[in-house]
Amino acid sequence: MIHRRQLDAGSRGIGMTSHGTRGRLVERLREKGIRDERVLAAMLNVPRHEFVDEALSSRAYEDTALPIGQGQTISQPWIVARMTEALLESGRPEKVLEVGTGSGYQAAVLAQLVKEVFTVERIRELLRSTRQLFHRLRLYNIHARHADGHVGWPSQAPFDAIIVTAASRTIPEELIEQLREGGVLVMPLDKGNEQRLLALHRTEEGYDTQDLGGVVFVPMLSGLA
Ligand code: SAH
Repeated sequence: MIHRRQLDAGSRGIGMTSHGTRGRLVERLREKGIRDERVLAAMLNVPRHEFVDEALSSRAYEDTALPIGQGQTISQPWIVARMTEALLESGRPEKVLEVGTGSGYQAAVLAQLVKEVFTVERIRELLRSTRQLFHRLRLYNIHARHADGHVGWPSQAPFDAIIVTAASRTIPEELIEQLREGGVLVMPLDKGNEQRLLALHRTEEGYDTQDLGGVVFVPMLSGLA
C-alpha cells in the first residue's frame, strides 16, 4: 500500500519546484532503469527542493547529489530510487531503520511506502533541522533519533529492512542482529579503492550477499557530533 500524502503544503514557490519538474525527474529515473512504480510514485510525491538549501532549490530536480551543510550531501535521486527498490524487493517491509538521516529525503521517500520509518543521525545540528522539516511536511510516521548508527535502534528491533546511507568499511554486526529473518540490509560497503552497494538478506544461519554495483557515499563515522 502506498501511503500517499500531499507534501506540498508550505512549499517555497513555484516554477522550478513544481510537480511538472518533478515529473521530468521521475521520467529520467525510469529511463535509467528504475522499474518499481511504487518507488516512482513516491518520488513524484516528495518535494526534494524542501530538503536542500533554498539557494540550491533550482537544482533539486537534477539527478545529482547536493551539499546539505556539515560536509554532508543529499543522495542522488537515482541512488535513493535504487536503494528503495532493493528494500521493497524483500517483500512488504512495514518497519524500516535508516542510518544517516541527513537531509531527510530518503526517509521521506520511505515514509510514503512503509508504515514506520526509524532514522538515526550522528550530527545533532543536522538532525534538529531535519526533524523540524518532517514536522512541517507532516511526516508523522518518521521517528528520528540522535545516535551512532553502528548501534542501530535496539529497542525498536527487529526491523523488516535496514538502509544505511553512509559508506562503512565493515558490515555492522549489530545491524544484522536487528534485522528479522527474511529481511534485507541495503548498504554501501567501502572496500578501500571503491564502494559497492550491497543487499544482505538475513537467513536462518547468517546472510546472503547481493552486489548491486559501484556507488559513492560519504563515510559512516563513529560517535556523535
Ligand atoms: N539519507 C540522507 C543521506 C545523507 S548523507 C539523505 O537522504 O539526505 C549520510 C548521512 O549519514 C550524513 O548526514 C552523516 O552525518 C550520517 N552518518 C554518518 N555516519 C553515521 C553514523 N555512524 N550514524 C548515524 N549517521 C551517520
